[in-house]
Amino acid sequence: MSEHPVLSAPITGGAAMNGRRGTAYIEPVSSSASTGDVEPSADVIVVGAGLSGLCAARELVRNGVDTLVLEARNRVGGRMVRQPVIGGGWVDLGGQWIGPTHSNILALADSLHINRFDSYQAGRSVIGYSNTVSTITGCFPPAEPLPSIPTGDIAEVSRIWGEFRQLAATLDVQQPWLTPRASTLDSQTVTSWLDNATSSKFARFCIRHWVLNQEGGDPSAVSLLFALTCYAKAPEEDLPEHWLFEGAAGQIPERIARELGNRILLQQPVHRIEQDDPGVTLITNGGQYRTSYVIVATPPHLAGAIDYDPPLPADRTQFTQRAPMGSTVKCAAIYQRAWWRARDLNGSSMSDRTVLATADSSPPSGEPGILTAFITGPPAISLANKPENLRKDTVLADLAAYFGDEALDPVQYIETNWPGEKWTGGAYNAVLAPSTLTTYGPSMTRPVGRIYWAGTEMAQQWTGYFEGAVQAGQFAARTILRTSGSTLPCDQRGCET
Ligand SMILES: Cc1cc2nc3c(=O)[nH]c(=O)nc-3n(C[C@H](O)[C@H](O)[C@H](O)COP(=O)(O)OP(=O)(O)OC[C@H]3O[C@@H](n4cnc5c(N)ncnc54)[C@H](O)[C@@H]3O)c2cc1C
Repeated sequence: MSEHPVLSAPITGGAAMNGRRGTAYIEPVSSSASTGDVEPSADVIVVGAGLSGLCAARELVRNGVDTLVLEARNRVGGRMVRQPVIGGGWVDLGGQWIGPTHSNILALADSLHINRFDSYQAGRSVIGYSNTVSTITGCFPPAEPLPSIPTGDIAEVSRIWGEFRQLAATLDVQQPWLTPRASTLDSQTVTSWLDNATSSKFARFCIRHWVLNQEGGDPSAVSLLFALTCYAKAPEEDLPEHWLFEGAAGQIPERIARELGNRILLQQPVHRIEQDDPGVTLITNGGQYRTSYVIVATPPHLAGAIDYDPPLPADRTQFTQRAPMGSTVKCAAIYQRAWWRARDLNGSSMSDRTVLATADSSPPSGEPGILTAFITGPPAISLANKPENLRKDTVLADLAAYFGDEALDPVQYIETNWPGEKWTGGAYNAVLAPSTLTTYGPSMTRPVGRIYWAGTEMAQQWTGYFEGAVQAGQFAARTILRTSGSTLPCDQRGCET
């Protein structure tokens, strides 16, 4: 072993296979939580087997670095998870779409031989606004006249959306806190900005809807600077919802986990991380693990729930206290076929009713027909603790209002109440309130000693998306590879000795 505690010992312990994922579940190296000798565990330990943590681990392993992933749940994937539907298909309960500029997730899917197909877009989309349901051609926000909306309001949507995009174009995207007028932009919420920027209720609805749909966060609580940054990092014009994966996106973490095999330990929530001179000890419910470097690849508020010794710098600690998750419940109503297509409807809707948005998530054949529905923001919270049946009835009633009464009789209904998921805490991602970026921005990605931060919230582009998760995981892994270049044993890095 080198003087640096880079650990060449193989991971040991009883390996009972986890049948569902095929990843090995291995006993921790020590069962005493806070005292006693701790065996070497791996060169690098990744906390969290979501897409970001798995991509970090995959990158490290491909560079010959002994890596271990500790995951709190009894499954991998985090916010990327699929479930079977009738007829042998799949639906994603978490993220599902990808777009043409998501180069890293596209390359990853190609390397795993996972194909994609176009999202269904033929036909008209539904707008539910002010107790009236209308249809439009093209994308949201609407550019054409609507029976229930005065023409002046349609023009105002276009003007205010243009103003929003112009503001986004002024940003320092990587360091938004350095943007001219950053403190002004970060001192208001999206709603307070809209109150001053337009008197059109419909224009306000459209921008608020975009923020809810993009972040899952209440526009009355979300910083304008944060919303602009999200737009600049993940522009709508790049068509992030262009494709779906055959067999669902949730198979990607499953496949990576198969590659990593017994390097992933499930049901190991990390609750303490101790750094000393030569290395780091991680303590889970089951035992202790020793390593040289750690990548924490969880949503920020869950990174903040870990006990650190020595404590994290004050700004990093306080950042994690100010990064709540958005509030989204995702539902899927499954029918024998996508019957709405025959009515010239594409399954997309935006609405001010409880179901904020929907999408046709069926396979290209339309069999089965899958409508995914999103309840987001305050309505998700008021429904989150209600019985599942009540949520189901509410969702189906809204689907019927948008597409027709056939919606009331799905053959299968599935939902994931993300705000109630302990190891995620909400969806789609962390949403920042006023004054967070300008006060705590620099602390978000700065490593702390041997601890590096990943997860989609840490990404330089496509924050909150799969693409951001892959980028952030790979970035953290490559930073460690660079930093540790002189200390990781050469034979472990695959270079010539
Ligand atoms: C409903 C929904 C719809 C979405 N739609 C899309 C979409 O269409 N397209 C898109 O690109 N993105 C979408 N997203 C976002 C996308 O799913 C996420 O950006 C991405 O999956 C995040 O990956 P991650 O690895 O950063 O975090 P996560 O997936 O949250 O992974 C973090 C992991 O860490 C584990 N963990 C947490 N705390 C601990 C601890 N203390 N110890 C050990 N393990 C811990 C968790 O269990 C989890 O497995 C959606 C998300 C949701 C929920």
